Amino acid sequence: MQRLNDRVALVTGGSSGIGNAIAAAFGREGADVVVADVRREPKLDDERSVFDKLDEADAESLFVETDVTDETAVREAVEAAVSEYGGLDILVNNAGIYYQYEAHETPTEEYDAITNVNLRGTFLCSKAAIPELKDSENAKIINLSSIFGLVGGGSSAAYCASKGGVSNLTRQMSLDYADDEINVNAIAPGIIKTAQNVEWRENNPEIVADWEAKTPWPRFGEPEDVAAVAVFLASDESDFITGDILSVDGGWTAQ
Ligand code: NAD
Repeated sequence: MQRLNDRVALVTGGSSGIGNAIAAAFGREGADVVVADVRREPKLDDERSVFDKLDEADAESLFVETDVTDETAVREAVEAAVSEYGGLDILVNNAGIYYQYEAHETPTEEYDAITNVNLRGTFLCSKAAIPELKDSENAKIINLSSIFGLVGGGSSAAYCASKGGVSNLTRQMSLDYADDEINVNAIAPGIIKTAQNVEWRENNPEIVADWEAKTPWPRFGEPEDVAAVAVFLASDESDFITGDILSVDGGWTAQ
């Protein structure tokens, strides 16, 4: 049985990595999927196009070129979902970027870029989608936080600040929209093997081995580990869960 039949989902940053896996999994579960991203093709050469995966699943799909920091573009992406598929049920705020600097070394423009995409983008997409989600019988918002939205780490001050903001925005929106029956939850992944960290993984074998060893379930995650949780949070099975931040981290934050 498909768990997302007759649902319309909008996935930001859905062309690559975790978003690509989430969008494809939603399609396999019967959803119509709008991918809102600054690019159509995946970032890594060995990643499959999300649209090929959605075609393979016989899912309806639409690409809308969208920068989540641009309020007009975000509104147009939501409008495209509604005009193409008749409404919106699921918003996944997944688009995100990462730079690694301690606070005193962070170029201020990179602090602004990270918080703009990760936090302001999540806010703008939610703001645009909520009026449509209020009309849905199955409304869900799923935000991509991080283990670094729950605890510090990675010498990445701006990223931690942005993801901490995403975690608490999630909690507050869950309270604001409980009466509208919009479930608002976040996923806090540990290190997941994507373009976001490919250079770090390739260039720092000793640190990488150390980080893997420090993970109680001693491996890094795959995008599909996160996609399975996103399907659960998008489905009716999670109707009584809201305001939660679900860790997908092999036990990292349990320590
Ligand atoms: P990724 O780099 O593989 O993919 C990110 C996607 O977002 C890309 O397709 C990119 O084009 C898109 N994007 C970037 N800026 C955008 C913008 N302004 N507007 C629209 N789209 C934009 O990254 P990923 O690892 O798949 O990360 C997905 C989410 O998961 C991010 O929010 C990230 O912070 C979070 N996350 C990732 C990890 C990890 O280890 N990979 C861990 C915790 C949280």
